[in-house]
Amino acid sequence: MTDLLARPPSAPATAPARSRTGTGLSGLDLAAVVLVNLGVIAGMWVRHGGTDQLRTPGGTWTAVGQLAGLYGAFAILSQIVLISRVPWLERRYGMDTLNHWHRWGGFTATWLLLTHVVAITLGYAAGNRSSVVHQLDQFLFHYPDVLAAMVGFAAILAVAITSIRAARRSLRYETWWFIHLYAYLGVILAFAHQLANGADFIDDPWARAYWVALFAGAATLVLGWRWIEPAWRAVRHQLRVVAVRSEGPDVVTLVLAGRRLDRLPAQGGQFFLLRFMQRDRWYKAHPFSLSAAPDGRTLRFTVKALGDDSAALQSIAVATRVMAEGPYGAFTAAKATRRKVALIGGGIGITPIRSIFEGIERGPGEVSLLYRARDREQAVFQEDLAAIAQRRGFDLKISYSRPFGRPLDADPFRPDDLLAVIPDLAERDVFVCGPPSLLSAAASGLRKAHVPHAQIHLERFDY
Ligand SMILES: Cc1cc2nc3c(=O)[nH]c(=O)nc-3n(C[C@H](O)[C@H](O)[C@H](O)COP(=O)(O)OP(=O)(O)OC[C@H]3O[C@@H](n4cnc5c(N)ncnc54)[C@H](O)[C@@H]3O)c2cc1C
Repeated sequence: MTDLLARPPSAPATAPARSRTGTGLSGLDLAAVVLVNLGVIAGMWVRHGGTDQLRTPGGTWTAVGQLAGLYGAFAILSQIVLISRVPWLERRYGMDTLNHWHRWGGFTATWLLLTHVVAITLGYAAGNRSSVVHQLDQFLFHYPDVLAAMVGFAAILAVAITSIRAARRSLRYETWWFIHLYAYLGVILAFAHQLANGADFIDDPWARAYWVALFAGAATLVLGWRWIEPAWRAVRHQLRVVAVRSEGPDVVTLVLAGRRLDRLPAQGGQFFLLRFMQRDRWYKAHPFSLSAAPDGRTLRFTVKALGDDSAALQSIAVATRVMAEGPYGAFTAAKATRRKVALIGGGIGITPIRSIFEGIERGPGEVSLLYRARDREQAVFQEDLAAIAQRRGFDLKISYSRPFGRPLDADPFRPDDLLAVIPDLAERDVFVCGPPSLLSAAASGLRKAHVPHAQIHLERFDY
């Protein structure tokens, strides 16, 4: 490894030994909300004769179809809540974890809805002694709102299919995102048929009220936190680009300033969805992490050109207006449970790591940063990081994956190498951000170096 080490003898120790994630929500609270609703739905189904029909012709299919429909709708609403950006969830789990749950929850919901469509049709066909085709025709053209619900289901199916990895890779991010909006249309189109035909809702005003409350709750969260709150923040903060500074090849730092930024509850390590208000760019929001600890007057981001929009940002005009949605993410020093911390940054993944390194409340010798870059030219912030390390009494080690004239180091995160640099690694919280290959190599090396799972915090620059 190529080194640059900086650590002076003294700097003030300021931090509390333990800090919290900034939300009162626990994993148990979330599980309790889900379990209570699953129980209420099962109770509602039994109360309305769900089990009585089991001995009738096609009754088992109908029962499966009803339960799959009820739980499928609940699963879809849960996915909407997961990506509603509601702060209690964001701060507790971080957007990448919520996106991961949303992805698998979304597929589960789609399977449940597919089961609902197939099983209800088979059950009713058997009960009415009619063919499946005749039964489908009956549903679509003689039952209220079922045709709209089928169109809604097709929209949800399109969202699920385009989210399969192979399909998603072949789409531009914006195309995938736009198709994803169809899911909302799907939920709206399918709503009426549930109240009009659902055995649980036709004659029971309490069940109807409960179901409407679930949908209204999800709609309120998504409208409030994805639309109204960002719009309100845009008006409140009036952000503009005030400085553009090149950091190296294809990497630029953008400084944004606005009003009342001291009221923005941002922390080092978090990210914003930035929307640059230019004619051909305002409708696209891209996630960028804070590359400096927030100072209450400016927000600083550092952008590498990885695609068309990030390339265009390399020469964005000063004074361009910006809408910033956020702050998001739980990749902050508040996640640390230990006094000592290790930071690992790779490539442009150094941005949130730099802001944590700068702002973390720890004393000399309590923070070590391992920075992995392709070569010296690509390693942005070198002088900056050395100055912070010097000022704060932190350790800094920079290494290169392709140092000039030397062979490629295939695995820089072998446990022995890690422990040689940070012997007390297992007693530290470790924050890692970088490309997916670096994340998995680092996570595997850290586990082999006996760092407990709960002390490893990863941030993916991926959706
Ligand atoms: C939480 C997070 C923090 C990030 N922080 C930084 C940072 O500090 N500095 C930096 O240079 N890059 C950062 N990125 C990556 C950055 O968002 C992408 O490089 C950028 O969005 C690419 O946009 P593009 O139009 O130039 O490229 P495109 O060609 O449109 O996309 C290139 C790739 O970027 C990703 N991407 C594009 N748009 C989005 C989006 N809206 N949401 C999520 N991923 C997207 C996709 O993986 C896509 O394949 C971060 C990503 C995430 C998820």
